[in-house]
Amino acid sequence: MRIFKFGGASVKDASGVKNVFDVLQKVGYEDVLLIVSAMGKTTNALEVVIKNYFDKSPDLNASIQEVKKYHYQILLDLFEDEDHEVFLDVDSHFADFEYFVRSNKSPNYNFVYDQIVSYGEIISTTILSHYMNFRGISSQWLDVRNYIKTDNTYRDANVDWDITQKNISKISKKKSLFVTQGFVGSDENGFTTTLGREGSDYTGAIFAYCLNAESVTIWKDVPGVMNADPRYFENATLLNQISYREAIELAFYGASVIHPKTLQPLQRKEIPLYVKSFVNPLLPGTSVSKGEDLEPKLPCFIVKKNQLLLSLSSIDFSFIMEENISEIFALLHQHKLKVSLIQNSAISFSVCVEDKFGTFKELVKILSKKFKVSYNENVSLYTVRHFDEKAMKTVEKSKTVLLRQMSRETLQVVTKE
Ligand code: ADP
Ligand code: ASP
Ligand code: MG
Repeated sequence: MRIFKFGGASVKDASGVKNVFDVLQKVGYEDVLLIVSAMGKTTNALEVVIKNYFDKSPDLNASIQEVKKYHYQILLDLFEDEDHEVFLDVDSHFADFEYFVRSNKSPNYNFVYDQIVSYGEIISTTILSHYMNFRGISSQWLDVRNYIKTDNTYRDANVDWDITQKNISKISKKKSLFVTQGFVGSDENGFTTTLGREGSDYTGAIFAYCLNAESVTIWKDVPGVMNADPRYFENATLLNQISYREAIELAFYGASVIHPKTLQPLQRKEIPLYVKSFVNPLLPGTSVSKGEDLEPKLPCFIVKKNQLLLSLSSIDFSFIMEENISEIFALLHQHKLKVSLIQNSAISFSVCVEDKFGTFKELVKILSKKFKVSYNENVSLYTVRHFDEKAMKTVEKSKTVLLRQMSRETLQVVTKE
């Protein structure tokens, strides 16, 4: 079986959905499992709904209507005939969604987040599956919550591989096209969970691992993995072939073209990952597979925006040593702050973190009781793999460098623009 993952950008409007059909026509759809994300920026729009819900904002209903309007417009563009059964299916998902919003009693933000945000994927896959049938590619819609089982760490759930493996093995072996949701899973009580933002690539890897798939292809709006994000760097170059190791490093440092959790399950079973353009599906794109990196190593640039640089020093002239550091890390972990860089000296300790869950200010309050705390908001973290003098100059040009760190292969620079 081949696993194809189509992200939000590829299905942002009716022509995107039509394009998925065209891609399948060109590259084949027999024995394919299609994993689809929420359409366009739907996940962000649903995050607004969740915020309005918790703020008890008068805009709550308007924000829900906006999500509905966007999807119904796509439906009208695709099917024209409002009597098509897809309208009933989508109506019923939206009815469940609105019922949840009306009747929920749980004050748990992360729980509510997952119950709501998952409708993005539930609805996108319903539309995709119906559209494929409508155009003559017979497809079967699967509810991923019956397959991917996780713990109940809502918004960042951990996969229970044993149960997931058992469930996925039950998928029928008939050579068909299956369509299911990225990013979503469910816990042992059947409540919906999610795997972390941008987690649909990871869903592809989970299915591939459990099905011993032939390959995974993630279809993107770029030609493949490049040596830099073309949004921020001119002259970004396509990398034709890279090793799992190199791809893991790039994703780990934040090359957002591949979700970092995707690669290790694939590497374990040596399942190749192809990153290809949904605009030019017949081009080879990037192949991530076993082996050495054959090509000369180009410097690869990765930028993470909107980071925080937190610096701590002791109040009482003591050194920041193992005991303090372990306490600081325990607190970072408790607050679910993802650390992307660490630097320490005798009397000060700095970390670059991303405040994904809005817990940073609370952490600062706690740390301020024991340390002198300072921080810079909205800084950028640049990482250059295989750096050279020229690459370093490119990154630091016309920026204030707050911190620089170098190892043999990797340069990291925290800058204020
Ligand atoms: P999806 O629609 O699957 O969610 P994303 O938007 O998450 O797709 O990923 C594709 C984007 O990743 C590209 O548009 C590009 O701006 C960005 N990107 C970041 N780093 C790289 C890189 N090294 N190579 C290619 N694209 C990159
Ligand atoms: N829809 C989810 C998100 O936007 C998951 C994904 O697209 O990978 O984060
Ligand atoms: Mg994405």
